[in-house]
Amino acid sequence: MGKKETSKRAIYIDTFHCKMCGTCMEESPETFTMNEFTQMPEVAEDVVEVDDSVRMAVVMCPTKCIHVEGED
Ligand code: SF4
Repeated sequence: MGKKETSKRAIYIDTFHCKMCGTCMEESPETFTMNEFTQMPEVAEDVVEVDDSVRMAVVMCPTKCIHVEGED
């Protein structure tokens, strides 16, 4: 068992269930950014590299509202 491989996947934030805690942006600031108009987190690109920091953000999200294509 080696290090988890990275891969390009679509990521979606269910903003209805997001409680704006900021954890995702702290864990993976290159992937998750604040939308200055809605004041909600958003994914920087529709399809991103799912590396360890992104996986940590998914795991640490308190409402589990970050969804990774093929992993739900
Ligand atoms: S970690 Fe989850 S609940 Fe917190 S801001 Fe990000 S998407 Fe919202």
